[in-house]
Amino acid sequence: MTTSVSELAALIAGPVLTPGQPGYDEEVAGFNAAVRHRPEVVVGASSTEDVVQAVRFARARGCRVAVQSTGHGAHLSVETGLLVTTRRIDLVQVDVAARAATVGAGARWAAVVAAGAPHGLAPIAGSAPSVGVVGFLLGGGIGPLARSHGFGSDYLVGATLVTGTGDIVRTSADDNPDILWALRGGKPRLGIVTEVRLRLVELPALYAGSLLFEETHIEAALRAWIAWTAQADTRVTTSAAIVRFPPLDSVPPPLRGRRLLALRFAYPGDATEGARLAAPLRAIAPVYLDMLDAMPIADVARIFNDPTGPVPAWSSGAMLARADQDFASALLRHVGAGTDGPFRAAEVRHLGEATARDVVGGSAVGGRGALYTFALFGANPTDFATVLPDAEARVVGDLAGWLSPESNGNFAPHPSARRPGSPGATPAVDAKLVDLRRRYDPDRLFD
Ligand SMILES: Cc1cc2nc3c(=O)[nH]c(=O)nc-3n(C[C@H](O)[C@H](O)[C@H](O)COP(=O)(O)OP(=O)(O)OC[C@H]3O[C@@H](n4cnc5c(N)ncnc54)[C@H](O)[C@@H]3O)c2cc1C
Repeated sequence: MTTSVSELAALIAGPVLTPGQPGYDEEVAGFNAAVRHRPEVVVGASSTEDVVQAVRFARARGCRVAVQSTGHGAHLSVETGLLVTTRRIDLVQVDVAARAATVGAGARWAAVVAAGAPHGLAPIAGSAPSVGVVGFLLGGGIGPLARSHGFGSDYLVGATLVTGTGDIVRTSADDNPDILWALRGGKPRLGIVTEVRLRLVELPALYAGSLLFEETHIEAALRAWIAWTAQADTRVTTSAAIVRFPPLDSVPPPLRGRRLLALRFAYPGDATEGARLAAPLRAIAPVYLDMLDAMPIADVARIFNDPTGPVPAWSSGAMLARADQDFASALLRHVGAGTDGPFRAAEVRHLGEATARDVVGGSAVGGRGALYTFALFGANPTDFATVLPDAEARVVGDLAGWLSPESNGNFAPHPSARRPGSPGATPAVDAKLVDLRRRYDPDRLFD
């Protein structure tokens, strides 16, 4: 039984570091510059075997295990136990005949998009190609094509998992299908996923991007967009974000220091039909910047223009059962023109259609019954401890009538949010996940 860090280091191909050692700070760093992990040991795993050794070591020492790929999901710092970083497990292999990809735990969406593009194949990814594939899928994954193609996790067809007992378990439709069900969006904490297999789709054309509206038109644009979503074409996915761009030189001059509404649009088809579908949105108010056009899937980052990090980041999300003009009024009171809250951005994404349909074999993802996502973002670290959680509580309190009872792993409340942790998809899903956790992580290393 390996119980000393030096014994563990001898078994691991990648680095094994403790606080103060050269390379430790770089190894634990990730997207969120405001979160600094300080685990007792960090293991830079470069293979499934490294992960097995790390988990067995933690089990023998009775310490907890956390896992980080890119750090896009890091909300609180890891202060104890062992952190496994997966960025070295970065295999991306496309099987053109099967229209599938095998992807390592440390790979980001950008690598899968790039590997599929020469073959006319694309993954159902998120808004930011720098997000990690596995972390995104474990929370469901709501991307620019959510309404036409569903959750990213609907495309997960297999995985390799190192369980809380340090065993390697493979899952697919035929092999341990209950694990596949849980990994499809259930954030199940059964262990560390070291590899996934995904279905890819053909995406020969994409008409996508954003329309930006000035502060004076935010109210009209938000109200018109919400009304438009009630009859939106089933093939189109849109979202609206009210963003306060900081007055910094790093921000492009047309955006610098302004509050704008960004209406994001994605239609997986040709430009003629895309422009026809977008025409009503171009007419809802005078468009300040029109950045909506045909684009290759490789440019998917241009739809949302998310930060690539490292940046200080605070976010808190929820699922909405519906949205209407009263919802718009409530939201505008907090983040509309002239308001002075602490939020860098507030975003509403339209769901439905493909996100409402479960996959063959089922999935644990939360939000099939929801019609929108809602999220608030902060970027000023001095606000993170109390200002943002307090302001978030006021906004969410006012929006309570529109919240869905379902919760989604990637749009969950911030751990510091002043509201109780939401349950997952349904009580039945939660109960099944608890049962799986008992089986695969009996010592609760991943709690
Ligand atoms: C800029 C930005 C844009 C985003 N856009 C979207 C979006 O469009 N749609 C959407 O749905 N979400 C989006 N997200 C949320 C994101 O998908 C989640 O935060 C996701 O968990 C990030 O995964 P990661 O691996 O990149 O991050 P990490 O912080 O490395 O991982 C997050 C968590 O995932 C789990 N995890 C990661 N790897 C493994 C593994 N190998 N085995 C087991 N558990 C693991 C762990 O619990 C870990 O704490 C966005 C986040 C950011 C910051």
